[in-house]
Amino acid sequence: EAEKLNAKTQESKRYYEKASGPLSGGVASSYQVHEPWPIYVERGDGPRIWDVDGNEYYDFHNGFGSMVQGHAHPAIGKAVADRYPLGTHFAAPTEDAIVVADELARRFRLPKWRYTNSGSESTMDAIRIARAYTGRDTVMKIFGSYHGHHDTVMVDIGAVEASERGPRDNYASISYGGGIPQAVVDMTVAVPFNDADAMEKRIEALDAEGRKPACVIMEAAMMNLGVVLPEPGYLQRVREITEKHGIVLIFDEVKTGICIAPGGATEKYDVVPDMVTLAKALGGGLPAGAIGMSDALSSIVEDGTVYQVGTYNGNPLTLAAARASLLEVMTDDAYAHLASLNDRILAGCDDVIKRYDLTAYTVGIGSKGCVVFSDTKIVDYETYWANQANAGPLADLAWLFNMNRGIFMTPGREEEWTLSVTHDDAAIDAFVSAFDELAAALRA
Ligand code: PMP
Repeated sequence: EAEKLNAKTQESKRYYEKASGPLSGGVASSYQVHEPWPIYVERGDGPRIWDVDGNEYYDFHNGFGSMVQGHAHPAIGKAVADRYPLGTHFAAPTEDAIVVADELARRFRLPKWRYTNSGSESTMDAIRIARAYTGRDTVMKIFGSYHGHHDTVMVDIGAVEASERGPRDNYASISYGGGIPQAVVDMTVAVPFNDADAMEKRIEALDAEGRKPACVIMEAAMMNLGVVLPEPGYLQRVREITEKHGIVLIFDEVKTGICIAPGGATEKYDVVPDMVTLAKALGGGLPAGAIGMSDALSSIVEDGTVYQVGTYNGNPLTLAAARASLLEVMTDDAYAHLASLNDRILAGCDDVIKRYDLTAYTVGIGSKGCVVFSDTKIVDYETYWANQANAGPLADLAWLFNMNRGIFMTPGREEEWTLSVTHDDAAIDAFVSAFDELAAALRA
């Protein structure tokens, strides 16, 4: 399979060689690096993309889950084209800033909003607001959860051995890559997902040391270990614990927001945090981000206690795209379509698993899902990591099978599929058929 992919992506290889001159590592971002070389993409249309070799793929990667609207959606294209001749940047608010904030407030049940340009900016600003509000420095996160590339959250993610990690009631704080001061790493503390008791115990222990957290930042449904759903009652307990201790609860909905329900995980699980962070699918393919917050948190932004700033915040072009996306594309019908497509892909993969008696299961929500190669349910980082020696190579092989059968997926082992509103039954069936071929090869 590796040879097959090499043979069909020779033009990408030439691009890669050219790119390795001016671009560090031949790519625009470290997450774009993979074997044998990055696939250079020429264009996309609806559920499909074409690479520079002319290979056609159904896109299940969808820009790390940003393109739930599908590529080059005409409504978003028109909004951007109409906006461009009117000027694209003033660093002053436009009408779309109000319309989009109103719609986000309705969807996510939080009254006040600010804009950013990415998920990292959203989580960075949200954490700063929480720290300013509480006057505390410590940040609590979930072990294994990714929240962007700023120092505070580049902790306790990636491959961490159990010996390094320590016991689940007292995880060590481990930096993800170099360049992050140890003093910053030590201010971030991680706890296991789906374990409210462990969270409460760690909060009490930190409190006793005079290090009570300013905030808990988490994905209500984890999207960066495949897909890991919250156990019933878990989020409600997290809400109660954080409220009881006066800790700001931030739902990072960079991946779940817009994609799994109109009001993301907040709506889906009916638990309202103090803040929501958005990005990715918010901008319909343009760099967008937003932070939703309570009136109390907003008040310290309004009075200048804490600065939430950025030259491009609320960029008119981005907000024109976001407005069209939210009001015209991501309608109730669109969410119903995504749900039925996701049912179809999950049922198709379940059927393959059953027919070939694979040690695997499926998990999905909204437009997202994945096949997990495990005989035990993954509920947190520990169960995920315990299964990696087995699942990792199978995930790599599945990626190769997909790429050779016209299915574009994220090469990362921890990533999930994202369906777009332009996907149809044919796209889903192509995915299931590639999985069927993989299963047959594994059984052969
Ligand atoms: N939070 C979550 C949950 C994410 O998945 C990501 C990106 N994968 C980010 C934050 C960071 O977003 P960005 O890459 O736009 O900075």
